[in-house]
Amino acid sequence: MKFSWKVLVLWTVPALVIGFFFWQGAFASVPADMTKNAANTRMTYGRFLEYLDADRVSSVDLYEGGRTAIVEAVDQDIENRIQRWRVDLPVNAPELISKLKEKGISFDAHPMRNDGAIWGLLGNLIFPILLITGLFFLFRRSSNLPGGPGQAMNFGKSKARFQMEAKTGVKFDDVAGIEEAKEELQEVVTFLKQPERFTAVGARIPKGVLLVGPPGTGKTLLAKAIAGEAGVPFFSISGSEFVEMFVGVGASRVRDLFKKAKDNAPCIIFIDEIDAVGRQRGAGIGGGNDEREQTLNQLLTEMDGFEGNTGIIIIAATNRPDVLDSALLRPGRFDRQVTVDAPDIKGRLEILQVHARNKKLDTSVSLDAIARRTPGFTGADLANLLNEAAILTARRRKEAITLREIDDAVDRVVAGMEGTPLVDSKSKRLIAYHEVGHALVGTLLKDHDPVQKVTLIPRGQAQGLTWFTPNEEQGLISRSQLKARITGALGGRAAEEVIFGPAEVTTGAGGDLQQLSGMARQMVTRFGMSDLGPLSLESQQGEVFLGRDWTTRSEYSESIAARIDAQVKAIVEECYETAKKILRENRSVTDRLVDLLIEKETIDGTEFRQIVAEYTDVPEKPQYVPQL
Ligand code: ADP
Ligand code: MG
Ligand code: ZN
Repeated sequence: MKFSWKVLVLWTVPALVIGFFFWQGAFASVPADMTKNAANTRMTYGRFLEYLDADRVSSVDLYEGGRTAIVEAVDQDIENRIQRWRVDLPVNAPELISKLKEKGISFDAHPMRNDGAIWGLLGNLIFPILLITGLFFLFRRSSNLPGGPGQAMNFGKSKARFQMEAKTGVKFDDVAGIEEAKEELQEVVTFLKQPERFTAVGARIPKGVLLVGPPGTGKTLLAKAIAGEAGVPFFSISGSEFVEMFVGVGASRVRDLFKKAKDNAPCIIFIDEIDAVGRQRGAGIGGGNDEREQTLNQLLTEMDGFEGNTGIIIIAATNRPDVLDSALLRPGRFDRQVTVDAPDIKGRLEILQVHARNKKLDTSVSLDAIARRTPGFTGADLANLLNEAAILTARRRKEAITLREIDDAVDRVVAGMEGTPLVDSKSKRLIAYHEVGHALVGTLLKDHDPVQKVTLIPRGQAQGLTWFTPNEEQGLISRSQLKARITGALGGRAAEEVIFGPAEVTTGAGGDLQQLSGMARQMVTRFGMSDLGPLSLESQQGEVFLGRDWTTRSEYSESIAARIDAQVKAIVEECYETAKKILRENRSVTDRLVDLLIEKETIDGTEFRQIVAEYTDVPEKPQYVPQL
């Protein structure tokens, strides 16, 4: 409704104005029957009098109450032919009539054509009338009827822009794996429930809490849980919804939101993606953004405007705290920051337990094993994983979710949809060699993560995949581990080259190369792991337009830049040689593994290692057993 009114204003006003001029042109001219006798040429009144005196006029028709005349006269210029002219007569020319009588010229007066006049009048009026009625309706609709239909000028009324949930129904029990954050926020529940406990001893209740963490870690869920535990209403809006095309709209939305919240206090206001409005003012390419700054200023004003104990607590979420305006983080605003990180293995297990509550799991399924298999998964990923598994179970018409469905769901969440396997062909063999290359190099390098499985079943973009079991618990990665990873990533391309020759290498290694180049560059520029020495040459790169640090990108000279490139190249070349050497020295086991892979489509890590061990020594890798 609102949208269509905007369109109406934007399009009809110019259309009406233009239309008005067209109609003016079409209607307000000569009456219709006068044009029948059309006289294209005009004659001045003086000339007409001359013609009269010279007896050249044969007839005169008067129109418009005697203001215009169509004159028939002999034209001397064109062989004395009879011509018609149009003459504008002076208003007061009564002597003309007597003159015509005197000369015996036939003349006739034509009455004003009323309909023509009416049409002309209407033509003149219809558009202003339309315009005025249009505006009238617009303004009438904009009169303040909160919640009424179609409020044209009320762009700022945030109706339907923020959601209000009287009861979220989420409890702390539903949030798992982020214990520290939960403990921090437990206190907020107490603020809402028993503010007097704090105010009695003169404590100021914090107004704002900033939840910082990657997407899907449960920030929204946590905010809802606070409202649910405290039994207060939950107002939520996304930062991006504040920012509109019209300057001032966002600010008025903020005002509105706070007004509603004050009426419903105690309550929680949740602002998702606050970085959309709260970004550093005056930063980014093209200077500031008026609308966003006004919105942010309004937000700051509102946060200052209510007393700490009105019972409103604002919770905001972001994954880019670094770009936030420092004014937002000042005491009295979002002075509490709570980090919500991706869960560790214990956290994952707890999250799985929460989401397994309402699912039918086969007794063979152990949630520990799933937690172990899913390093890096967020709460949202895990919820999604169990749901995918349940869908697969239903599709396969099974009674309960088994390990197979879980496995398939993990692969699907990580690598995308399963495709149909390639038919046996040269390109399938090449892909098999590529994957076995990754897996073999990974297996034979002491510092590489162990292979979990190799598969030729396409998923997402990939034609084949080699999965490794990462050792997530170790926080620090050594230089030799990084080099082992680069070498393993080169294993695919190395196999293509060693087996099929340099001319036959394919585009299949594109993704690998991109990844390993990034790793090699970081070794040089960020971790000081090259001959350039322990220097940090690049800060972590953020997107240019996102925040304050876009001017401080490269902190080195051009000669250093060239040396960086040389170092990166040296690292990658060394690793590539290692990978090719491993593959050349293990040709027979490679061929056997490829045949087996083409036959079975998937080889799991244990079997893979057993086969390799028949041919050569497989380095012991510390088996990583996560502690639960
Ligand atoms: P965020 O706001 O951090 O992006 P959400 O709170 O929207 O993440 O999480 C999306 C969904 O993922 C939730 O509705 C919930 O089902 C699940 N989820 C995420 N984190 C957790 C968690 N810590 N515990 C339980 N479920 C979670
Ligand atoms: Mg969210
Ligand atoms: Zn590859």
